[in-house]
Amino acid sequence: MGERNGGSGKKRTRLVHAGIRRSRYGEVSEALFLTQGFVYDSAEAAEARFVRAGEDEFIYARYGNPTVRMFEERIAALEGTEDAFATASGMAAVNAALMSVLKAGDHVVSSRALFGSCLYILEDVLARFGVEVTFVDGPDLEAWRAAIRPDTRAVFLEAVSNPTLEIIDLRAVCDLAHGVGALAIVDNALASPVWSRVVECGADLVVYSTTKHVDGQGRCLGGVVLGSRELIRGTVEPFAKHTGGAMSPFNAWVMLKSLETLDLRVRAQTEAAATAARALDGHARLARVLYPHLPGHPQYDLARRQMEAGGTVVTLELAGGKAAAFRFMNALRLFVISNNFADAKSIVTHPATTTHQRLPEARRKLLGITPGLVRLSFGLEDPEDLTGDLLAALEEL
Ligand SMILES: *Cc1c(COP(=O)(O)O)cnc(C)c1O
Repeated sequence: MGERNGGSGKKRTRLVHAGIRRSRYGEVSEALFLTQGFVYDSAEAAEARFVRAGEDEFIYARYGNPTVRMFEERIAALEGTEDAFATASGMAAVNAALMSVLKAGDHVVSSRALFGSCLYILEDVLARFGVEVTFVDGPDLEAWRAAIRPDTRAVFLEAVSNPTLEIIDLRAVCDLAHGVGALAIVDNALASPVWSRVVECGADLVVYSTTKHVDGQGRCLGGVVLGSRELIRGTVEPFAKHTGGAMSPFNAWVMLKSLETLDLRVRAQTEAAATAARALDGHARLARVLYPHLPGHPQYDLARRQMEAGGTVVTLELAGGKAAAFRFMNALRLFVISNNFADAKSIVTHPATTTHQRLPEARRKLLGITPGLVRLSFGLEDPEDLTGDLLAALEEL
């Protein structure tokens, strides 16, 4: 068991080899250990494992499983953290990260532009358990400085927000949090693990919905919390393993194999997004083209510093509001209308009427989610075909 060669190579090498546990059959492709439980050699061995499970000793799949462990080690090797805990979905990961570190009476500062379900946990669930949450405008550093207090236990933010692609100065916010002894928890789903510099910027816990770029082919839900061994095994794991949010071995196997191609896929998707953003910028039918590495982005300099590349999502604002947005979406031939992102298939979403429909209009306005806003997720199709599809749909308006 336990081939570890390549686990310390460069990023793409780690994505293929890190974490591998080869069984006595010597299989090339990682085994899918589709088992809930494990057999002990003796009653004494069972007792010993319950007293203290060693490395590669498993008890029950809700706590851990060899295939899940391979996935955890491989994604930790990519992100550059000591450890990781894999969960059933991205939201199980967000929930585990927050609930495992917070208790009644704690204070949290969070950016306002969050994924809807994250907002529900921070605004509704945490409040019921006596945790106070202050929301701030993410890019406004003064607002973070004013909101963080001596009793702040954690800050929570999305490094790149969805769908308006606002960038938060990670290093500055992490420094402010650490100044009062608070933990920095970053939900980095939109930026993807490939372009992540979150750990380098000082985040204590990084959370991914692996449903997005890691699977990247629209099959399984999954999530992961990454951080130091002490935080993951000492704080996150006890909460996560007893509350039932574990990743299934089957999904872990899909995600593990997906990591082998993650870097190649995200690079290709990013190239397609960047190509289209440049081609669409300044188009007469568009009020705005938002892409982090486009010079017109409000935080272009920060985006260049903090993100190795601009990512796989481009957001457009149609000049003609909702009617124009709908006509544009219906005229697209390659982009499918759906609400996910980071899939191999390019996806177009109208946030105001779908993913962000639940928000009151004033709130949507505050977040910049206007009726003309359309989010584009770039897949693995040919970049020229995708840009052509977008330009042709704009011509039909
Ligand atoms: C999708 C997403 C989630 C939730 O992930 P699921 O896998 O759907 O549970 C959380 N945060 C962000 C930023 C997301 O994009």
